[in-house]
Amino acid sequence: MAIVIKNGRMIDPASGTDDGLDIVINGDRITDIGRNLAPAAADTVVDAAGCLVLPGLIDMHVHFREPGREDVETILGGSRVAAKSGFTSVVTMPNTQPVIDNQALVRFIIMEAAKGPINVFPAANITKGGKGEEIAEMGEIAGGGAVAFTDDGRPVMNSITMRRALEYSRMFNMPILTHSEDKSLADEGLMNEGLNSIRLGLKGIPNEAEEVMIARDILLTRLTGGRMHVCHVSSAGSVELVKRGKNDGINVTCETAPHYFSLTDDAVEKFLSMAKMNPPLRTEKDRRGIIEGLRSGVIDVIATDHAPHALFEKMQEMEYAPFGIVGLETSVPLIITELVRNNNFTYIQAFDKVTCNPARILKLDRGVLKVGGYADVTVINPDTKIIIDDSFFISRCKNMPFTGSELYGSVEHTICNGRPVYSRGQQVS
Ligand SMILES: [Zn+2]
Repeated sequence: MAIVIKNGRMIDPASGTDDGLDIVINGDRITDIGRNLAPAAADTVVDAAGCLVLPGLIDMHVHFREPGREDVETILGGSRVAAKSGFTSVVTMPNTQPVIDNQALVRFIIMEAAKGPINVFPAANITKGGKGEEIAEMGEIAGGGAVAFTDDGRPVMNSITMRRALEYSRMFNMPILTHSEDKSLADEGLMNEGLNSIRLGLKGIPNEAEEVMIARDILLTRLTGGRMHVCHVSSAGSVELVKRGKNDGINVTCETAPHYFSLTDDAVEKFLSMAKMNPPLRTEKDRRGIIEGLRSGVIDVIATDHAPHALFEKMQEMEYAPFGIVGLETSVPLIITELVRNNNFTYIQAFDKVTCNPARILKLDRGVLKVGGYADVTVINPDTKIIIDDSFFISRCKNMPFTGSELYGSVEHTICNGRPVYSRGQQVS
């Protein structure tokens, strides 16, 4: 019995396809793509009229908090949120408790994820304990199934450690994902350093705290011939640095998060700790720089940095609240509203950042619609209006600065490995 997705507008960024094509799924594979394909009587038909049919989306930067903070989010719970949000693959960050710095813990995540609806690819720590000093056993970790190394949540401040990490990870052809932040320059700031931080009397974090580390790591990537991917780029200056690195032939890629192209630090006054994140929301000039970086392709990937926090921890004064917001569920609506509707991106320009580009960086056989490929498919209605309030979320944490926003774009169906895992309003598995 096959699944036939009919009447949709198929967008496959990898091949540049934007056309009225149907898709047939048998088992975990796509077995046919073509015009007006006729389903057999026993087949399940998904009517995608008025909808975009995309490769299952990939979010290469999420925090699912397990092991250690299962009260906040679990691998299974986070996977369900991802399926509802149109994502069929995610990369989990290793800054859990304990951190993911050995093979047994990588395997634990893969085993837990197997109970859930989507593909979970763990990233593991660069350094033992995530302490930024001694390199973890990269060979063992790679053998356990991790797809990348990162100390995300913290920078690797020690330059010789970062040099060694870029050298060793080359042997496994795995990227180093950098949390680019000079801790001494960030100086325990709470928001972007600028007019708003002065006005609100809050300690600021300058753009340069991010940019000096990106510059350092681009140079170390040049020195080592390694492969680096910059996480959550937030400033126009960072985009310029990555552009220069790419133009110089250095193996650097980068991601931004939907909040950096949707909001500025003006949101902090209204949402306070709900708009506290690291790196912080910047200025309108930076927001424009991020959008132009996405348009030109200097920014390869959109990743949410989905960071659930318990309400009792987040609802404290700015100084005490943890950094981070949830992002999975608002990702598709922000991409469609801000990039496609407000900034005239084509669907291919907007969605290559959550399909084939992260797949390429992580060497995943996903993020593409092709006969013989994995049947990971996301169906989105780009015209549905959504009002963001607490009822929009199934995530057990709702910490984010979008309450009251009117956005467009609803996830209608998510299919992962040939299995329907979400249909609008209804979690299937
Ligand atoms: Zn980070």
